Amino acid sequence: MATAKKRELDLSGFPPGTVTEFTTLVCLACIFDIFTQQLGLAPRTAFSEVKRHTPTVDELTSRNAMRPYFDSEEKHPHCPYCGAAKRWHARFDTYVIEGGKATDVVRRALLRKLPTTGEQFLVVEKKSDSRAVLFEWLDTMGLNIDFEDESWLLEAARNYLERRDPKTNWAEVFENVRVVRRSTRLTTGWERDGVRLFLAPNIYAEAILIQYLVSRAHTHGGLTSEGRLTLLELTRRLRYFGYLDQVGINEREPGAVFEKLIDHLAATQDWSNFAPDAGGASVKKGKPKKTAASKRPAKATKKSSRKSKPASEPDEIIVQSVKLHYLIDRRDFLEKVKSVYASYAA
Ligand SMILES: [Zn+2]
Repeated sequence: MATAKKRELDLSGFPPGTVTEFTTLVCLACIFDIFTQQLGLAPRTAFSEVKRHTPTVDELTSRNAMRPYFDSEEKHPHCPYCGAAKRWHARFDTYVIEGGKATDVVRRALLRKLPTTGEQFLVVEKKSDSRAVLFEWLDTMGLNIDFEDESWLLEAARNYLERRDPKTNWAEVFENVRVVRRSTRLTTGWERDGVRLFLAPNIYAEAILIQYLVSRAHTHGGLTSEGRLTLLELTRRLRYFGYLDQVGINEREPGAVFEKLIDHLAATQDWSNFAPDAGGASVKKGKPKKTAASKRPAKATKKSSRKSKPASEPDEIIVQSVKLHYLIDRRDFLEKVKSVYASYAA
């Protein structure tokens, strides 16, 4: 779509990984139908109502679109509800910008450059707590995984490591790796031995926790590099690895341990953008996988609010609230509404 490309926003000022783009199609035939048939409005009134219409953030970013919204990868899609052809479809582009020091200035500068007339762009703000952000990340990763193919275990471990330490070139580290194992030698970091990648116990513990979390929604129990685990088995393993002690989880009951694990994981890494290969109903374009430099839980970062403490101390748990700014591009929608109405009225 040449016209769509031309009007793409310049997001190059944002740190990598802080903006996620969603594209949703809306069927104008369905919208008109809803306004004229179901709500009983005259075509002219329907037109002005439709023009004002803005989907909710959930409708724009949901993976299960409902009438009149839909998603399609096809070049010439037809509306799944009424079969209307492409000229009846309009698209909404939604840019989800993660709030914070790293993006605030760039975001304000971008907003200043946008046209202000006719509600071509809308900004919606939403708070999201760190647990919700973690689950969203897991959820998006899960969509792209083929659980029949065991290589997903490596992929999930790599996705996690990319979050934990964005500075390392993990694609290179994982080249030709066949299995991930817990190291009995290392206390921090990782090492390669042939086709095996050894991780320090605490890192390995989090990697299998991530695998468990991603797969438990799709399979019975969770699948991990340790095999299929129940929650009880998972918590036992993590205790045995010394991980629970290390992060200061003293609970005994698996459910309580699990809750603490989630809080810990959510608060100590930055999960606030979507999985690198985000697909499904959402469209993610050209953004590198790495997180914002300032969010890195790196050894030398003093400014970071996320504590990265020496391995022997329990990590501090901070439940953070992330502000998300949804920038909704309504230009295509407004144009299409106009042209569709012209043919409607004729
Ligand atoms: Zn339709």
